[in-house]
Amino acid sequence: MLELSHVQVLFGQKPVLQDLSFTLKAGQRLGVLGPSGEGKSTLLRLVAGLLKPDSGQLWSEFLHPVLVFQQPRLLPWRSVLDNVQIPLRAQGLSAAQAKERALYWLAQVELADVAQSWPGELSGGMAQRVALARAFALQPDLLLLDEPFSALDPALRNSLAQVCLRCLEETGAALLYVSHQPRELMRVADSCLLLQKGQGQLFELASPGDTAAREQLADSLYAQLLSQEALTP
Ligand code: ADP
Ligand code: MG
Repeated sequence: MLELSHVQVLFGQKPVLQDLSFTLKAGQRLGVLGPSGEGKSTLLRLVAGLLKPDSGQLWSEFLHPVLVFQQPRLLPWRSVLDNVQIPLRAQGLSAAQAKERALYWLAQVELADVAQSWPGELSGGMAQRVALARAFALQPDLLLLDEPFSALDPALRNSLAQVCLRCLEETGAALLYVSHQPRELMRVADSCLLLQKGQGQLFELASPGDTAAREQLADSLYAQLLSQEALTP
């Protein structure tokens, strides 16, 4: 369980998050939408414990939040397998345990056959799947995704979102997922937080089967976002 109550974050004199309140329960999947510069990445850093609120309260019972960025951030001089194993070794797993777990998660993202390749040999989508495998191998109870697929084309984004959803269902991890694509977000999330003017507005989503209702909400949020972006100088 995560709870934010009237959270404010300032950079210098400038408030980024002003009065943000919401809760996230174990296993819940919350999508985060908002115009550029609205504080979405700041929110993830806050929840990851990399930043403290300037005022308000943040309580988190999640013990293992893991953050995945827009760029995969792989070590170019280490193999794909090493990229997934090294953080596990740093957590104290034996070489054999780390290798077994890394290979398991590489297989889950359908990359077992490139375990010995170099990151430079991978496509953008493959590299981002390695980053996902590395994150899941760390066994997060809360996965924080910061526009992880936005550099990829729409078909690939969608299939990666599906891979991610399958892995989340397997692990039961909760999710905070920042994306610029409301429709993509609604295929993964079960509720949605719209960040605007430093505050958050929560939308419960229709059941996953009700695609039409979800797409309608996605399109209306998208229209809101577009009008916001247009107003930004
Ligand atoms: P988003 O991810 O929604 O695009 P960010 O959370 O990255 O927004 O940033 C929100 C605002 O805070 C931006 O105006 C950004 O310039 C500012 N900002 C972010 N990080 C810092 C920082 N470390 N120091 C000063 N300003 C920052
Ligand atoms: Mg950002």
